[in-house]
Amino acid sequence: MSARLHVDRSALASNIRRVRETVAPAEAMLVVKDDAYGHGVEPVVRTAVASGVTWIGAFDVRTGCAVRAAVGEGIRIFAWIAASRSDLDDAVAADIDLGVGDAALLEEVADAARAARGPVRVHLKIDTGLHRNGVRPEEWPAFVARAAALQSHGLTEVVGIWSHIAEASDEDDDAARDVFEHALAQASSAGLRPAVRHLAASAASFARPEFRYDMVRVGAFCYGIRSAGGPSAQSLGLMPVGRLAADVIEVHDDVLEIGIGALHGLPSSLGGRAALGTPAGRRRLLGVGATRSTIEAWPGAAVGDEVTVFGTGEHDDPSSTDLAEEIGTIGEELAVRVSPLVPRVFAGGTEDA
Ligand SMILES: *Cc1c(COP(=O)(O)O)cnc(C)c1O
Repeated sequence: MSARLHVDRSALASNIRRVRETVAPAEAMLVVKDDAYGHGVEPVVRTAVASGVTWIGAFDVRTGCAVRAAVGEGIRIFAWIAASRSDLDDAVAADIDLGVGDAALLEEVADAARAARGPVRVHLKIDTGLHRNGVRPEEWPAFVARAAALQSHGLTEVVGIWSHIAEASDEDDDAARDVFEHALAQASSAGLRPAVRHLAASAASFARPEFRYDMVRVGAFCYGIRSAGGPSAQSLGLMPVGRLAADVIEVHDDVLEIGIGALHGLPSSLGGRAALGTPAGRRRLLGVGATRSTIEAWPGAAVGDEVTVFGTGEHDDPSSTDLAEEIGTIGEELAVRVSPLVPRVFAGGTEDA
């Protein structure tokens, strides 16, 4: 195996500081879905907590439980996908805040609370246009009324109201925020006083202060991944955290083979489109095979030389978003595709520093 993903913990800590300073006084939740965007959830959350993060966004309950095991008590963990009743019981046992985006799930949460003999903390999700597990605006008044009733019976504690937005156009986001504002007003009329209202992810949390409310949920920017078509990581004050590297394993005349391919998570569509970082500057990626790929040679190239697929931006290395833009996707996609077969190599201070 000649491919590896280097993960720079000090860059992660620096990005987290940058995000927290930018959005303050709002809180910053670190989103760790998809194994912390491919970087490795447990080392990432330990570094995050050491850097002052107090909220972790886990996507599903199983990840939430793994995060709880890694960070211990006192950190708020938010999960918004619960697949079954046993998931809910696990969430209650691990003291996880649950995102609830439909009426049937709210009733199941109430059942879990009855079984646990104590209230469950919930964040009610309004669908502001993305149509991903949120309560539709026409059903929202009844939903918040029911949540208020369950709260008065000591079964739920409505600590949050939230939604997710596309962050693709300001107009669509503005329309979503109008829906969100209306939902907050209706929740207030139902007697709910949630402490954390949250709407923005990476892009809006930096670019649009009025979207920050009490908390933002940030993944990409904490990993130093800029938005496709958006401002550079450097101009945002962010550093790449992951660097995907592979060694030269064979030298032909004008062409080198490197030990990374589609099975390691490199999209085959990058062949002929992308340029990778080498000791001699960027070289064109010619083709992607199953376990090895071909790249233009440079003078003096030798077996064992290191090629950066995406990474730090030093030596003119491409970022994951640079590659993604060549094939019409986003930098996060390149990061999460890195196969579990590729070892993660951590550097940059201890997990507790
Ligand atoms: C992935 C995700 C985020 C984080 O998005 P980024 O753009 O990576 O910051 C926030 N909220 C939800 C619900 C998500 O699924």
